[in-house]
Amino acid sequence: MDRSDGGGIPAAALIEWFRQNARDLPWRQNRDPYRVWLSEIMLQQTRVEAVTGYYARFLAALPTVEDLAAADDDVLNKLWQGLGYYSRARNLKKAAGVIVSRYGGRFPETYEEILALPGVGPYTAGAVGSICFDLPCPAVDGNVLRVYARFTGYDKPVNTDEAKKEIADALRPLYTPGQCGALTQSLMELGACVCLPNGAPKCDICPLREGCAARKSGTWQRYPIKTEKKARRTADMLALLLKCGDRFALRRRPDTGLLAGLWEFPNTALKNPEKALEEAAAFAAALGAKPAELLRQTGYTHVFTHVQWHVQAFAFACEAMPGDLVWATAEELKRIYAIPSAFRPIADTAAEIGCGI
Ligand code: SF4
Repeated sequence: MDRSDGGGIPAAALIEWFRQNARDLPWRQNRDPYRVWLSEIMLQQTRVEAVTGYYARFLAALPTVEDLAAADDDVLNKLWQGLGYYSRARNLKKAAGVIVSRYGGRFPETYEEILALPGVGPYTAGAVGSICFDLPCPAVDGNVLRVYARFTGYDKPVNTDEAKKEIADALRPLYTPGQCGALTQSLMELGACVCLPNGAPKCDICPLREGCAARKSGTWQRYPIKTEKKARRTADMLALLLKCGDRFALRRRPDTGLLAGLWEFPNTALKNPEKALEEAAAFAAALGAKPAELLRQTGYTHVFTHVQWHVQAFAFACEAMPGDLVWATAEELKRIYAIPSAFRPIADTAAEIGCGI
C-alpha cells in the first residue's frame, strides 16, 4: 500500500459524506478556537454524550479565554467534577494564562505555537490547527487510527508514538487548503459513527468501502492491532467521613500526583482489610477528631487508569473538629467543593446523613 497518498483514502468522497452526515454537535457551531480547543480537551477519554452538558456549563461560566485564565481553582474543578482526569482542567487554565499573557488573548495560529501550550499534544494541536486555522496538520486519535488501520491493513500496533507519527505523516498529503478542518472532522466522525470501535463496522454505508483492505478481506476484527496494556495494580484504601455537628471533614490533596490539588475525605492505605474498623477508628483518632459513634460503613471499588482502589469507608460522629481539616456542611460540599468520583459514594453518604436521614 502506498503511504505517500494518505494510504489511498479518497478524501473528497469522505468529506462529501461528512457534509451530508455530520452530527450537529455544540462545538461545531463555529470555528472559534477557544470553543474547539475546550471541546477537544473535554472529549479526550470521555464520550460525546457525557461531554455536552459539561461543555455548555463551562462556556456559560467561563465564556472567554480571559475568564478561564482568571478562574478560581475551586470553581474550575467544580465545573470539571465528574469528568475525571483533572490535570486537563489545570492545563486548560495554564494554557489560557499563556494565551492571555503572551498572545494578548488571541489564540496562536501556528501548529508549533499551539503545540507548545500546556496540556496540548500533537492530537489537540492538529485538531485545533486544522479545524480553526485550516492548517495541514492531521489529528490522529483512536477513531482515526482505527479507520486508517482497517482501510490500509496496517500491520503494526497503532498505540505507539511512532505509529501515530507515521500515520499522521501518511495522512498529511490529503490535507489541501480550504478543507483541512473538514478532513480532520470527517475522519473522526467516520470512526465514531461508521467504522465503530465496539462491534461490527457499518461497511455498507461507508464512503471508504471500495478501497478498504479490511472490508475486502473480512478482517476488520484484526484491526487496529494494539500492544498489551500493563495490568492495573490494586490498592486497599481506608476512607473516613467524619461528622461533627452538621459539618464534615475534608482536606486538599497534594499539588502533584493522583487527583492533585482536589478535595478529598481523609483516607489512607488499609493495612489489614480484616481489621478495617479498628484501623478506621485509630486513623480518625490520630487526626484528632475524637470518634464517638460509628454511623455508616460501606465498601466500593474505584478504577483509575493505572490503579484500582478497593475502598472501605466509615462514617463516624466525632466530638472534635481539628483545625488542619476543613469542615463543610452537606450543602457546601455540594455547592463549593469539587469531590472526585473516587470519593463520590462518601459524598453521597454525607448528603444523606447531613440531611438527618
Ligand atoms: S469499509 Fe468498513 S472497515 Fe473499512 S473503513 Fe469503512 S467501515 Fe471501516
